Amino acid sequence: MGSQNPHNKMTIQLKNDRLIFVTQNRHKLMEAKQIFAANRLSIPLAGLDSLGFSGDIPEVHDTLEENAIAKSNFVYRKYGCDCFADDTGLEVHALDGRPGVYSARYAGAEGIAADNIAKLLNELHGVVDRTAQFRTVISLILNKKEYLFEGVVYGEILTHPIGEMGFGYDPVFKPAGHHTSFSAMDVATKNSISHRYHALIKMIDFLLAIHK
Ligand code: IMP
Repeated sequence: MGSQNPHNKMTIQLKNDRLIFVTQNRHKLMEAKQIFAANRLSIPLAGLDSLGFSGDIPEVHDTLEENAIAKSNFVYRKYGCDCFADDTGLEVHALDGRPGVYSARYAGAEGIAADNIAKLLNELHGVVDRTAQFRTVISLILNKKEYLFEGVVYGEILTHPIGEMGFGYDPVFKPAGHHTSFSAMDVATKNSISHRYHALIKMIDFLLAIHK
């Protein structure tokens, strides 16, 4: 059962006392920890390396949902622990939703962010409608049941990269209502508006509700 801690955050008792985020990406893990800490939920989060797993879980499917489900199930089957996995796509309207589910390896199998950005900017050269969205799908496995959560942030693709922070397409994505890229804003601001925030907050609300 959940219980209140002195800082007014709900603490949830989990199998193994922690929730595994199925990721090797330290940026994603840091973002998720910050979003949990800022939003009433006190759960120790740990990445894949805490399980001693350093391999790659291939993303072979054609939808974010299927990839997220495949990753969480892979870890659940191998380690039997409560866990969640996310998959994210950058969906650019002028490109009919590309790169979408193929965002990580848009410019090649190596998945190099600078190459992906260069290819994207090249494809959008001279294009006026630069609107886009990041969409994240989370698959949570908790007590042998599976749950899905989705988060979206709308914005546009800049004509050149701005900022040094973050990862992936952050330097060229400007969220709607903001004047600069994800990379140039402070981490707390990105983590209060991002696709990952919107998906995680749904998961956090769900966890808080079932542990009342
Ligand atoms: P995945 O969810 O790690 O498979 O991400 C797919 C692609 O989207 C990768 O190229 C990531 O770098 C990129 N991506 C995922 N989340 C973000 C983000 O928050 N900002 C910028 N790029 C991201």
